[in-house]
Amino acid sequence: MLYKRSSQLFVEANEVIPGGVNSPVRAFKAVGGTPIFIKEAKGAYLYDEDGHKYIDYINSWGPMILGHAFEPVINAVIEKAKKGTSFGAPTELETKIAALAVSMVPNIDKIRFVSSGTEACMSAVRLARGYTKREKIIKFSGCYHGHSDSFLIAAGSGASTFGVPNSPGVTAGTAKDTLLAKYNDIDNVKALFEANKNEIAALIIEPVAGNMGCIPPKDNFLKELRSICTENGTLLIFDEVMTGFRLAKGGAQELYNVAADIVCFGKVIGGGLPVGAFAARNEIMNYLSPLGPVYQAGTLSGNPLAMAAGYEMLKTLNEDALIFQRLEEKTAYLEKGIHKVLSENKVQFTINRVGSMISVHFDANPVYDFETAKNGDNQVFKKFFHDLLERGVYIAPSAYETWFITDALTYEDLDYTINKIKEVTIQE
Ligand SMILES: *Cc1c(COP(=O)(O)O)cnc(C)c1O
Repeated sequence: MLYKRSSQLFVEANEVIPGGVNSPVRAFKAVGGTPIFIKEAKGAYLYDEDGHKYIDYINSWGPMILGHAFEPVINAVIEKAKKGTSFGAPTELETKIAALAVSMVPNIDKIRFVSSGTEACMSAVRLARGYTKREKIIKFSGCYHGHSDSFLIAAGSGASTFGVPNSPGVTAGTAKDTLLAKYNDIDNVKALFEANKNEIAALIIEPVAGNMGCIPPKDNFLKELRSICTENGTLLIFDEVMTGFRLAKGGAQELYNVAADIVCFGKVIGGGLPVGAFAARNEIMNYLSPLGPVYQAGTLSGNPLAMAAGYEMLKTLNEDALIFQRLEEKTAYLEKGIHKVLSENKVQFTINRVGSMISVHFDANPVYDFETAKNGDNQVFKKFFHDLLERGVYIAPSAYETWFITDALTYEDLDYTINKIKEVTIQE
């Protein structure tokens, strides 16, 4: 395929935007080649600047769970825009979406809206620290909670339990307050609690990891984390930016029947506009300004356009009794199809899936944490990615990303995708 216009646009973008993109993964660095510039999207499909059509498995990294340019969301945004786009003062719609979110998600009484998942997780940690009057947090290697300083941490070397910065610009002082644990390794978590008695404010986790491919929590892992946190007076933060309003109405809390103390949202909750949120029961949320001492604010928080999009999205999901079942069925169908063709083609692979999150790892061994996720054959993935792109199937340009299935996908789209996967993995 020819990507003439995309290539030209990328050259121009590189002149004035670092790396030509406003978020790094879009630059195709992990897979090589030139990123495709999108002109428009509708339903399950993307259309690029060179006139190619793609079946989209990124879906803006999650938000477009009902497909692109979903009519009720688009219409709500257009109508709102005509009445002014930002006031910096409260609006009724903020209460409506808050009440709806609180009714859908278990274990929360109040919710505060922000403008991104990063902001939600950053604020949740500050709230947890203020509430517990402790400073350290535990996060898991391979989990992503946005790009705020406390989360850009790699495991320290040797026997040290504290982390080190994994980006220049993050101070050693910040890094020492973030402890790194291994996903799905409860003994490792216990050891961290043991070594840092009464010091851990919060443990934050993606209840289903989605930023190292899709990695489900092992049996009882989340329940055991719940008990350890309760025993130690530590708040359990579920980062449901990816899983919230995707795995179930009530997200991973509902699916696994585990109660978190603070829940973070992003992606689906904004229906494709910039929205994040964090929520908890009253005693914790009342600790937030202006009621309590923990400061948090935002000029565009609760923005009318963003709230209109989010409200229509949540309302649609709430009123469609079969939506999550349909998503599960479509994704299971895709999983089965891919499994069949890769097995026939004798490719080394592992497929992980929870609900409508799915990832294909080019390694025959189980993938259950960051270390095992790194074992995938990246050369194979690169070729797989580009060969599919050529054939009109757009998966995420990194082996560490989950594919997001949308309800706009038809079974014909899924069959087409499975056939193309068969074609690109046949070994000569
Ligand atoms: C995407 C993501 C974030 C960050 O959200 P942004 O809106 O990109 O800032 C945080 N946590 C998880 C689990 C995510 O997938």
